Amino acid sequence: MKKKLSIFAASIFMLTLFTQCQLFKVKVLHKGKVITVSKNAADTHVAHGDEIISGIYKQDDGTLIELPYIPE
Ligand SMILES: [Zn+2]
Repeated sequence: MKKKLSIFAASIFMLTLFTQCQLFKVKVLHKGKVITVSKNAADTHVAHGDEIISGIYKQDDGTLIELPYIPE
C-alpha cells in the first residue's frame, strides 16, 4: 500500500513537471545508436522502427531536463 502511494505521488509530481515543460527534443535508438532529434524528426524514426529512449523537455526558465517520453 505504501509503495502504491509513493508511485501515485511520483506520477502527480511527473504530471506537474510535464505541465510546466514543453517537449523540445527526443532521444531515439537509431541503428543501435542513441541520437537526439527534434520532436518532428522523432516521428520519422519511430516510423522506421526506432525506439524512443526519453524526451528532452524545456522548462519555464529555459533550462532543459531529460524525462521519460510521453507522447503529446
Ligand atoms: Zn532512425
